[in-house]
Amino acid sequence: MSLLQRSLASVWHPCTQMKQHETLPLIAITRGEGPWLIAEDGSRYLDAVSSWWVNLFGHCNAHINQRLREQMEKLEHVILAGFTHEPVVRLSEELAALTGHNLGHAFYASDGASATEIALKMSVHYWRNTGRPAKTRFVSLAGSYHGETVGALAVTDIALFREAYAPLVRAAATVASPDARAAEPGESAKDVAIRAAAALEAFLAEHHAETAALIVEPLVQCATGMAMYDPEYLRRARTLCDKYEVHLIADEIAVGCGRTGKFFAVEHTGIWPDFLCLSKGISGGYLPLSLVLSTETIYQAFYADEVARGFLHSHSYTGNALACTAALATLEIFRDENVLEANLQRTAWLARAAEPIAAHPAVEHVRQAGMILAFDVECPESGFARRFYAHALAEGLLLRPIGNTVYWMPPYVLDEAQCQWLGERTLVALNKTLSG
Ligand SMILES: *Cc1c(COP(=O)(O)O)cnc(C)c1O
Repeated sequence: MSLLQRSLASVWHPCTQMKQHETLPLIAITRGEGPWLIAEDGSRYLDAVSSWWVNLFGHCNAHINQRLREQMEKLEHVILAGFTHEPVVRLSEELAALTGHNLGHAFYASDGASATEIALKMSVHYWRNTGRPAKTRFVSLAGSYHGETVGALAVTDIALFREAYAPLVRAAATVASPDARAAEPGESAKDVAIRAAAALEAFLAEHHAETAALIVEPLVQCATGMAMYDPEYLRRARTLCDKYEVHLIADEIAVGCGRTGKFFAVEHTGIWPDFLCLSKGISGGYLPLSLVLSTETIYQAFYADEVARGFLHSHSYTGNALACTAALATLEIFRDENVLEANLQRTAWLARAAEPIAAHPAVEHVRQAGMILAFDVECPESGFARRFYAHALAEGLLLRPIGNTVYWMPPYVLDEAQCQWLGERTLVALNKTLSG
C-alpha cells in the first residue's frame, strides 16, 4: 500500500469529508524548505496559506531549528504547576513588553480553541469573583470564528461548523459584523463600522447585566472569508465595553504576530482589550502553543486566600518548554530581521501581484490587511472552492478558498519574484476554474 492509501485507511483528516478523497488527491509531504512544501514525488507547492496560518518564517527555519536543538539538550517539558523554567518566563516577559505592559500574566494552553475558552472562563469567573454572578453570556460578531471545541463553538457563528452540535452548545448572541463589504453606495468602511458599533450599543444597552464579554477578531474575520473592517469599530467597541462593564476579548490567534502589519492587530486602533488570545504564528508554526494575556485588574480579582477564587484551569502541556523556545526564537527573528519593516515591502509586492487579478471581470472586493490579501469570485456553479483548490495545486500553489473567497496568507519570506509568481499562477488557476 502506498503512503496515501495507508493515510486514508488510518488517519481521519481534519476539516474534510473523507469520501471526497475518492477523487481529490491527498498529498504526502516529505520536506519543507522556506515557503515550499516538497512532496514524495518531488513536486513543489508554494505554501500560500502558511499551513493554516501558522508558519511565519518558512518551513525548517534554520534559526528556530537551532534554538530547539539547544533547548532539547536541556529540558523538553516540566509540569507548570509549582514549577517554572526560563523559556516560559522569558516568553511571558517579552509578550507583556510587546503590549507596553498593558497586558501581562500569560496563561498557557496548546491550541487556539483552548485559548478562547480560557478567556471566556476567566471573564465569567472575574464577574463572579467581583460580585456580578449574573454576567455569564457572551456576544460575538456575525460570522465570527473562535475555534471548534464545544465551548468555543458558543462564539463561532459559522453554521457548517456548529449546526450538527447545536444541542451541545450554549450559543452566544451575535451582533452585526462591521465587514466593509456591507457598505451601501456612498458609504465608507468607517461608516459601516460606525453603523455596526451602533448595533452593538443597542445590544449592550439591553443585555449588559447578563453579558460578560464581547469577543472579536480584530480587523479581519478570517475563517468566515477574510472579512476586513475599519479600526474605528474596535475603538467604539472599547468605549462601549467600558460604559456597559463588559470585557473585550481580542482573539488575535490568526491576526496577531505581525499578520496585519503591527505585531498585534489592536495596535492599529490605539486601544487594548481586557484579554488577548494568541496561538498559530506565535511558535513560528512549529509546535502547538496558545496563550491568553490579561490585565492587572483581571489578575487581581483572582488573587486571594480562597483556592476557589483562583483560576484552576489546566492543560497537561501548559507552558511546554520546547513550544515556548520556538516562540522565543520567532520573536528573535522579528527583532533581528526587522520583520514588520520588511513586510511593508512584501505587502506592496502582494498588492502589485494582485493587480491583474483585480482586473478580472469575475473578481470583486479585492482587499488587503498587511500580509493577508483576499478577493471574492463571482461563480454561478457550486463547488468553486474545491475546484479552485485542485487547479491551484496543479499550478504549484497551496491555496484553500473559503466559499468563493480566495486569499493569500503566506509566510513572511516571499521575495518579489515569488510574489509575482504567486499572482500569475493564481490567475491561471482562476481562469481554469471558471472555464469549467
Ligand atoms: C484558528 C483560530 C482559532 C482556533 O485555533 P485552533 O488552534 O485551530 O483551535 C480561534 N480563533 C481564530 C481567530 C482562529 O483563526
